[in-house]
Amino acid sequence: MSELSLAYIFHHHQLLVDKNLQLPKVEKLASDIGFSSGDQVIARDLLADDAIPEGYQLIPIRQLISQWTKPQFEQASRAVQLLEWRRNHKFCSHCGHKTEVHPVEYAMVCPACRYHQYPRVQPCVITVITRGQDEILLAKNAKNTSNMYGLIAGFVEVGETLEEAVKRETLEEVGLHVKNVTYLSSQPWPFPSNLMLAFKAEYESGDIVLQEEEISDAQFFKFDQLPETPFSGSIAHAMIEHVIHNTPMQLD
Ligand SMILES: [Zn+2]
Repeated sequence: MSELSLAYIFHHHQLLVDKNLQLPKVEKLASDIGFSSGDQVIARDLLADDAIPEGYQLIPIRQLISQWTKPQFEQASRAVQLLEWRRNHKFCSHCGHKTEVHPVEYAMVCPACRYHQYPRVQPCVITVITRGQDEILLAKNAKNTSNMYGLIAGFVEVGETLEEAVKRETLEEVGLHVKNVTYLSSQPWPFPSNLMLAFKAEYESGDIVLQEEEISDAQFFKFDQLPETPFSGSIAHAMIEHVIHNTPMQLD
């Protein structure tokens, strides 16, 4: 009898778990994606007509971030991104031929032109901006209907350094110039495949001018008068705690 594998089975961004949020154990199939620990951990797509096994449920992966440990969440995040990458690279982007799964590497290979497509992460900068000793800039995302205020964030553009991305995003979104840009930490963020790179920066000059398609409000808040901020487990939460309470940037 073959050994069972711990399975991350996804239906898009929903993960199959039991009522205690434990993963199922299954027999490995050829179409499963194996993890670094050999075949003991696998990732699999739950197809539309597959039944949900008795005692199991689909939970949005976002909900697990506050309930699971950091290594658990990171493994789930890796699984969902690899599945999504495989689903989105069924054809060669160079010649259009149907691709095949590479037997050992995480690569989709074109049998016609040999082009290899690898999973990619999107670098994304997120910045906590302070003014003086006791003020922090927080901004409300225009698409967010809640009252939550977060940090300035955006994708790194081609040919740009991370520090340049921090300065450009801040200028574009709130019209401010910042200085003393310093790296803090990073977090993989599987929505859909980002690597969040956290920076802190100090206000240099300018008045707040909102980029209205992106930001509906932005203000400097006193440390002791904060609005609703991002949930524990997110890198934004750790960054805000770090500048206000001088806590380390650890996320577990
Ligand atoms: Zn090709």
